[in-house]
Amino acid sequence: MPFKYHKYLWIFILLFMLSACGQPRAKYIFLFIGDGMGTIQMNAAERYLAAMEGKCGIVPLAMNQAPVHGMITTYSANRYITDSAAGITAILCGQKTTNGTLNMDAEHRYPLKTVSEAARERGMKIGIISTVGIDHATPAGMYAHQPKRSNYADIALQLAYSGFDYFAGADFQATGNERDSIISLVKRNGLIYVNNATAFHYLEPGAGRVLFVHPDSNHEKALPYSMDRDAHSITLSQMLEKALLMLEGPEGFFILIEGGKIDWACHGNDAAASIHETLALDEAVKTALAFYEKNPKNTLILITADHETGGMSMGTNYGDNLVDLSKLQWQKASFTELIREYRDIREYNIEKNGRDSLMKNPDWAFEFAREYTGLGDPDKGLAINEYEKKHLLEAYEQSFKERNWSDPYEYILYGGYDPFMMAVSRTLSRKAGIGWTTYSHTGAPVPVRVFGTGSELFGTFYDNTGIAERLLKILR
Ligand SMILES: [Zn+2]
Repeated sequence: MPFKYHKYLWIFILLFMLSACGQPRAKYIFLFIGDGMGTIQMNAAERYLAAMEGKCGIVPLAMNQAPVHGMITTYSANRYITDSAAGITAILCGQKTTNGTLNMDAEHRYPLKTVSEAARERGMKIGIISTVGIDHATPAGMYAHQPKRSNYADIALQLAYSGFDYFAGADFQATGNERDSIISLVKRNGLIYVNNATAFHYLEPGAGRVLFVHPDSNHEKALPYSMDRDAHSITLSQMLEKALLMLEGPEGFFILIEGGKIDWACHGNDAAASIHETLALDEAVKTALAFYEKNPKNTLILITADHETGGMSMGTNYGDNLVDLSKLQWQKASFTELIREYRDIREYNIEKNGRDSLMKNPDWAFEFAREYTGLGDPDKGLAINEYEKKHLLEAYEQSFKERNWSDPYEYILYGGYDPFMMAVSRTLSRKAGIGWTTYSHTGAPVPVRVFGTGSELFGTFYDNTGIAERLLKILR
């Protein structure tokens, strides 16, 4: 008996020494990218939840309850304001490159090694999930190396040859024959191609490597906005749940989950859509947290962004000090959808009544705004004042003129979108208390939120290249 006892004791001492000497190692790594998600995008979602309960303050997002909070700079090799390609390159390769470049050095001489490739070398399975096209810059950052992010055909080839395990997102940019040949190449390289909800729900472990092209990819090669989706449409969180089912195993995994349309919503200065996309990303974070609870010793969950979009702010001259985001609750769809609808009605009215007469008669447009966003309805706290009315009328007239987006004044006012609907969107934001400085990205630093194994490495303020450096330290 004593002999046996001693034998075990030595094993325990050995294990203790090993764990004390080594870095923490994470076997299961979740990297969430809220594209365009700065602190205010997060905070707006939290403020919205509280405002909907009639409270001051916030209802915290799951991601913001992380024990470790950091902050990263986002500038690229040649611009203070990055794009998503240079952003994901810095995050996954630990090296800065020029805007538009995907996982190559700034002079496009050689490919840069990604954390996903390093994870694969250690035998980990690799998953890539996005609400936008699977060949879009951020998801492509996991598997492609290209001098230009718009080299979609080459990016698709690199997806097929990557050997990675699980892809889920919206459709490829390619169409017709070009798309067909991509799909058959993908299949020849051993991925199962799934493009409908039933087959997706039936996917089970052991089925093999998967490419899931979301069936609702029709609009602009992306999933619908959360606020536009029908109840059965597969969510970001469901795509992650399926990934966990397919990838869990002794090898561990590294999964990228992108909320790609926070960025798109903020490009359009659409506060409500940004909030709902951020909440959808937070739902996916909750899915990861449930996994972490079951695997608390070797899971890392990291949530960050490639850059901020829109220059979103809380507090405007025309809002009130409440920042009452419940005023956004009357918006029935994303502005992308509303603009589509608005244009259809406008075209119909032009055909029926003629252009000139419609231009002199803006009532229908104001009615449309009231019906679909609440703007102009005093019962919803959204009455419009004389100044706002004048601004909206001017935008309405502008929407009948040929646009010249190279004119900076026009661009500042309407950013390439329909002038009237953009005026509606910005007025609505302003009344709720949200301001915007741009239709593009900003150079603001972005938050890092981290749970689990190795999370202590990610606190403080550093450069976005520091994410890759730290991830490489803790890969299993
Ligand atoms: Zn963007």
